[in-house]
Amino acid sequence: MTELAIKLLKDKKLSQNEYETLISTYTAEDADSLAKEACRIRDEIYGNYVFIRGLIEISNICRNDCYYCGIRKSNKDCIRYRLTHKEILECCEEGYELGFRTFVLQGGEDGYYTDDVLCGIIADIKFRFPDCAVTLSLGERSYESYLALFNAGADRYLLRHETADSAHYSLLHPQSLTLENRMRCLNDLRDIGYQVGAGFMVGSPYQTVEHLAKDICFIQDFKPDMCGIGPFIPHKDTPFGVFQGGSAALTCFLLSVIRIIHPSVLLPATTALGTIMEDGREKGILSGANVVMPNLSPSSVRKKYQLYDNKLSDGAESAQCIQQLKERVASTGCKIVVDRGDVKKG
Ligand code: SAH
Repeated sequence: MTELAIKLLKDKKLSQNEYETLISTYTAEDADSLAKEACRIRDEIYGNYVFIRGLIEISNICRNDCYYCGIRKSNKDCIRYRLTHKEILECCEEGYELGFRTFVLQGGEDGYYTDDVLCGIIADIKFRFPDCAVTLSLGERSYESYLALFNAGADRYLLRHETADSAHYSLLHPQSLTLENRMRCLNDLRDIGYQVGAGFMVGSPYQTVEHLAKDICFIQDFKPDMCGIGPFIPHKDTPFGVFQGGSAALTCFLLSVIRIIHPSVLLPATTALGTIMEDGREKGILSGANVVMPNLSPSSVRKKYQLYDNKLSDGAESAQCIQQLKERVASTGCKIVVDRGDVKKG
């Protein structure tokens, strides 16, 4: 093993410079050893359980124009949809029957979903399924809005920071979007009392090893309750359609690093990882992940929520095929459980 991998196993923490070197020089042996340690730590804290979240993609209408994202405002070839209150509740009903105890409402920044509309939906879900957690992933909103949604019953919020380097952030987003505001949102969410998720893409355009080291340091310092990490995958109708996608191996390596430096984090094996590698979810779990988020959206809209090319939404990615997912997870030695799967606070 390399010296820095040994140091990480021992100290559970490195400096930004050391992460840079580790990421540029790690060996297959390092990746194996870190993955084993990551799984040991996960099992010690959470047991060998994998938590499932039913992902409901409530709208692909978005006011933003992120250069990487297939549902960006300028993509005229994207067929737009939004789900109604009733449709969202029907997804939850079906999900509950299938054993889901967390519903994730994700979407573009769609002005239709005012605080009033969302509070009505959230309160209704919590009323009908009081033993379930509601997670939101609806982008940047004001403090007051996040507070209203929390008071209506939302438990968690996913908002990837995307990159912890502000110059890199501005290469991925139009000028109207800043890392500063993204961080303001993450801090607001934490102050209000949400379980908060951050995260980033691996191999996004213009990303350097220094940027990745910064991302790891941000996770080390901010200690989000959840951390979504997936490979960047180009979408043909975006400005980044011609760029290379990110690497599955590096994504898995970073999952292990994050589990080691932040043991209690809830770490999904993402759909993007499953999309670029046939057994991506399994590899993610074997690298220390403990969450999977199958798709619970109505089948009529699934193909329309196309963040990147070939995004999976059937097979083990589909909530309805939970049996297939259970078998795949079992092949890693882990077990899917019917549980809210809240973060364990140290
Ligand atoms: N509007 C919400 C939800 C965005 S979609 C928000 O701003 O948080 C969820 C995540 O998908 C994004 O945070 C981004 O990291 C990821 N994503 C978007 N386009 C992608 C692409 N081309 N490849 C890989 N991941 C992508």
